[in-house]
Amino acid sequence: MDEITKGFIEKADKYGVRNYSPLPVVLKSGKGIYVYDVSGKKYFDMLSAYSAVNQGHCHIKIGKAAIEQIKKLTLTSRAFHNDKMGLLLEKISKLTGMPKVLLMNSGAEGVETSIKAMRKWGYDIKGVEKDKAEIIIAEGNFHGRTTTIVGLSSDNTAKNGFGPFTPGFVSIPYNDIKSLENTITKNTVGFLVEPVQGEAGILIPDRNYLKEVRRICSEKNVLLCLDEVQTGLGRTGKLFCFEHSEIRPDMIVMGKALSGGFYPISAVAASEEIMNVFTPGTHGSTFGGSSLASAIGVAALDVIVDEKLPERSAELGKYFLEKLKQIDNQDIKEIRGIGLFVAIEMKKPIAKEICKKLMDVGVLAKDTHETTIRFAPPLVIKKEEIDDAVELIHKVI
Ligand code: PLP
Repeated sequence: MDEITKGFIEKADKYGVRNYSPLPVVLKSGKGIYVYDVSGKKYFDMLSAYSAVNQGHCHIKIGKAAIEQIKKLTLTSRAFHNDKMGLLLEKISKLTGMPKVLLMNSGAEGVETSIKAMRKWGYDIKGVEKDKAEIIIAEGNFHGRTTTIVGLSSDNTAKNGFGPFTPGFVSIPYNDIKSLENTITKNTVGFLVEPVQGEAGILIPDRNYLKEVRRICSEKNVLLCLDEVQTGLGRTGKLFCFEHSEIRPDMIVMGKALSGGFYPISAVAASEEIMNVFTPGTHGSTFGGSSLASAIGVAALDVIVDEKLPERSAELGKYFLEKLKQIDNQDIKEIRGIGLFVAIEMKKPIAKEICKKLMDVGVLAKDTHETTIRFAPPLVIKKEEIDDAVELIHKVI
């Protein structure tokens, strides 16, 4: 490691909290699918900030919208209206087909919003007895880092030492229809689930899973809330991952690429019946729906639609997966993917070591759960760039 890189890392370690374990690379700039470190070395970004930069780094159109808005007005708070928020709400509503949208900042806040909405819908509309509402969640989930949400986690590192946790949640195995059916009671208000579990290592459920989940939730008057914070906005080859299953959820939580990486923006979209449970004073955020967030969000969504990023993800994801599958290595357990959301699972816990070696040859990817390497490049990647990246991945693995 050179002295400049070492200096930056030492400063971060000295003054920062070690709540992450990043690869020893210090990035300074980025354009499209590439990022550059402080000594000018170029890397393929195969993580896209956990799918927040689906549009590619520093997309010119989103940057332009941000700069123009910064010169005019950034934040009013929701004490007053601003002239941009309605535009983003309308865009999200039209793209999701959901009549009502609530804007927040981080993905975790989006999930928290959905939890509050499901509970209040349970009391106000379904008629669940006060403080008895239950939400079903899936093992292996990742929904964020708040104290309520880590309580839902099955990952001991994320959870241990942070209790006591919020009651009212019941965990069932992922991809298990029978468990869902057997766990629902008269107090169940919602099922919160990721259509593909990203942080768990890109776990893709059975083909008919979501369809069956939809059927059961409808039969039992339970809200189906999909956390599309990572899978949404083109990542899996459709605008939203649930489109693969030809179903419609009751609630969609989105975040990350809603800003193209420029600003934290999350949103929850749902029906009038669900979202009208919120009345003035029941929920909010100083920054949610700000002028700046809204201008950026509109531009970020326009790029996804105009550049046909979901379609690109479907086509190039297939190509990427086929190329990776040509790697001949007996330590590989499985290579799986949906769109440009691809994982190589190794038989041994060597994923971090592989990611370090990938970094050395100029490919940034992230290990998850010791055995799995996740590849989620910006959706603007080209076929020739996939060829170049795969050549390097072949070399390392
Ligand atoms: N939900 C899912 C499925 C995620 O993958 C993440 C982040 O990785 C979140 C929620 C939390 O988002 P944030 O880190 O913006 O709070």
